[in-house]
Amino acid sequence: MKFTFVTLFQNIVEGYFGDSILKRAIQKEILHIEYLNPRDFSSSKHNKVDDTAVGGGAGMVMNPQPLFESLRKFKSMSTDVHIIFLTPVAKPFKQNDAKRLAKKSHIAFVSGRYEGIDERVVEMYADEVFSIGDYILTGGELASLVLCDAIARNVDGVLGNSDSLSVESFETNLLEAPSFSKPENYENICVPSEYLKGNHSKIRSLKLALSECKTKFFRPEQLLKHRTRKSYEK
Ligand code: SAM
Repeated sequence: MKFTFVTLFQNIVEGYFGDSILKRAIQKEILHIEYLNPRDFSSSKHNKVDDTAVGGGAGMVMNPQPLFESLRKFKSMSTDVHIIFLTPVAKPFKQNDAKRLAKKSHIAFVSGRYEGIDERVVEMYADEVFSIGDYILTGGELASLVLCDAIARNVDGVLGNSDSLSVESFETNLLEAPSFSKPENYENICVPSEYLKGNHSKIRSLKLALSECKTKFFRPEQLLKHRTRKSYEK
């Protein structure tokens, strides 16, 4: 699967792929990463990519010309690409989106900077828009990486053990039950004794109960969704 980062700041993004799971997936050629800098397409004398806002308002806006030029050329060369713009003015990105998008062959993430991107670019080129939460970042690069990471771990072969995907938080609307690693007793703090007895059905019931407790405490709306779905299934 290929990811293209459309960004003025390639350096911010690149470092993330230099270690761990995603690095290995790139080495195994399961993932391919490339970059496109709209500044390289600017027709202005000093390669400007921003301008003051029409109609007034604070700050600069990414102007349409470099993005139109770069994305037009890019789309003509990559016909199967799905283009995602990162912006706070969008629906929130969810685990279901990560799973759905992992089936695409090529995704491009367009990062805004300054006060954002001229809306005509979004209207013209976005297949989808996503926000990563109710707060404002200085640029879309971190948001792009969040989506890329969440999507990539759902691509076949990226995770060493794909079983881990099926028990993670949000798979059933519930948050995951607490995990423990060895040793079983660390500084006199023990893991729940049921986890040690080897009765897998009891361990499963306990994990479900703990999962529900965590969800009730941190994300009560998710627990409601879980229970509604369960009662439909009955
Ligand atoms: N003026 C914009 C607004 O109020 O909606 C915020 C612009 S922000 C300073 C610059 C860029 O960061 C945006 O164009 C977008 O690409 C990215 N960004 C900021 N917060 C984001 C969020 N919560 N989700 C996704 N992208 C975000």
